[in-house]
Amino acid sequence: MKRAFHLALACLLLITGTSVLGQSEDARVLIIGIDGTRPDCLEAAETPALDALIADGIYSPDALNNDITYSGPGWSAMICGVWSDAHGVTSNNFVGSNFEGFPSFMQRLELENPELNTHSFCHWAPINDYILGEVVDEAINSPTDAAVRDAAVSLLEGGDPHAVFLHFDDVDINGHGYGFSAAVPQYIGAIETTDGFVAEVMQALTNRPNYAAENWLVLVSTDHGGIGYNHGGTSIEEETMFFLASGPSVEPAVLVKDTLDILPAPENCIAPGAAELRFEGGGDAVVIEDSPALQLGADQDFTLEVRIRTQATPDVAIIGNKDWNTGLNPGFVFSFEYPSGPAWKVNIGDGDERADANGSSGVADGQWHTLSCSFDRDGMMRLYTDGVFSAEEDISEVGDIDVGSGWFFGSDILGAYSYTGALSEVRFWHGVLSEEAISAWHCSPLDAAHPNWASLQAHWALTEGAGAEVANSAGSGLVGTVQGAEWDQPEGVITFDYSNTPRIVDVAATALDHMCLTIEPDWNLDGISWVDGCNTTHVGDLDRSTIKASLFPNPGTGDFQITGLPPHASIEVFDPTGRPIHSAQPGSSTHTVPHTAGSGVYLIRIVDGAQRRTLRWIRQ
Ligand SMILES: [Zn+2]
Repeated sequence: MKRAFHLALACLLLITGTSVLGQSEDARVLIIGIDGTRPDCLEAAETPALDALIADGIYSPDALNNDITYSGPGWSAMICGVWSDAHGVTSNNFVGSNFEGFPSFMQRLELENPELNTHSFCHWAPINDYILGEVVDEAINSPTDAAVRDAAVSLLEGGDPHAVFLHFDDVDINGHGYGFSAAVPQYIGAIETTDGFVAEVMQALTNRPNYAAENWLVLVSTDHGGIGYNHGGTSIEEETMFFLASGPSVEPAVLVKDTLDILPAPENCIAPGAAELRFEGGGDAVVIEDSPALQLGADQDFTLEVRIRTQATPDVAIIGNKDWNTGLNPGFVFSFEYPSGPAWKVNIGDGDERADANGSSGVADGQWHTLSCSFDRDGMMRLYTDGVFSAEEDISEVGDIDVGSGWFFGSDILGAYSYTGALSEVRFWHGVLSEEAISAWHCSPLDAAHPNWASLQAHWALTEGAGAEVANSAGSGLVGTVQGAEWDQPEGVITFDYSNTPRIVDVAATALDHMCLTIEPDWNLDGISWVDGCNTTHVGDLDRSTIKASLFPNPGTGDFQITGLPPHASIEVFDPTGRPIHSAQPGSSTHTVPHTAGSGVYLIRIVDGAQRRTLRWIRQ
């Protein structure tokens, strides 16, 4: 208890009027809690008082309350420095609370040194009534935010406070009333009004006659964010909060989440990150000018393939060379079953005869699917969906299918029956490809190893990404012209790393560290300190982690195990989008993380007292 003795000695010196106090000796803390404040909205609002504190502080707009995003559990976590599995509060009724086992930071201060003057002024009464405890010297429930301000200003002007907690509620009230959004004037206005209260409180603080000798740390934070008109869920809008620790003893810094990677969206059969050509209907098309190379006559066997990505199956022309007003018209077309799917289909006609066959349904799920059809002109046309045989139909009665208007991707030759979605990888072969070849190559990049390579007539990958021409990589002319369709870079999945930003539980730990209380391991605090207080380990030391945990199997496909965990470690797991999906205090050296879904890099943050370690797990 060396530090506690140090603190007691400091106060003794103060009481006896002895001066020459070192920086840590007259530590004081002001915590300003602003209920339900989204950091992005704080950014959008005009907040000169908070901006000034940020300029002199450690600030994070990417801090997290990734536990329960209601006020009861949120303020309990902030004020006690532990998550809900310890403080026991899971809703605003406080049933199950365990503040005896995990007392508030103010209670710890008072237990350690009853001479400290502690004050709490709260608009939301349960903070005083349940969380802070009776040991606080002055706990007042104020009916309005202005009354909180008045009480704080009065105290700072005339009193000798060592620890002050303020709670402002109007931001949250306006969020519930009008919406938690930067686009909501009432919500932004409430943030700006609260900033005005903060300005008055800070003026009273810095005007204190002995302010320069008092080592104030000002912590400002919130209990949760919000989405729509509410909070309480696990969206990142509700879990993201801000953390600010400001004062003369703080080295200013901004702590933001890291952007790890922009992973390609999971696209069946398409190269990661490839550009795609989007057709939005209304005549959007790729036109291949008519050419002798496109002629099929009455006898030429051929095979056509195309990949589609769409979410609807209306009666459109996906690829074809005909007027699709009737299936009797000469030519071929890939379409959807009349009138609205769900199966895809192929039609072929010569003006007198027609043949039609349906492929599989399930191709309009927004993922890429390969449609293939071989045409044996005196036999069958055979349809394959994603390389799997779907259906066949006799086309031996169908004669000449040449029209002379070229080929169109995305509409028929009159610019009608327009398709909505993306197209890629159009392949035109002479001859009938075997089921084996279609199956083996439907999802692979095309190259000379393909058994029918010599009879490839045209290959439009449709991955140029820019410009009004699409190349035919088979090299026989047949360059396509883009009409209306637009290039698009599919959105990737951005992976964020929150492992180096604060948590709501860090507020209490930071306050205690600044106030020079030794944070004992058996307190089992989940939070860490972000200031260089009296405790020997602080955030600057965290990289030298002694946590030796590891993951198995890694890479893996389902559950995975964390081994080598310290006995009191807490863990958080983030999925590849940065979403927290799992947290636990296993209490044993091994823990299984269940139910991962989605490939990519998972982050595992392990905290053991002041030690942290981040591990990465690859889901294949
Ligand atoms: Zn609320």
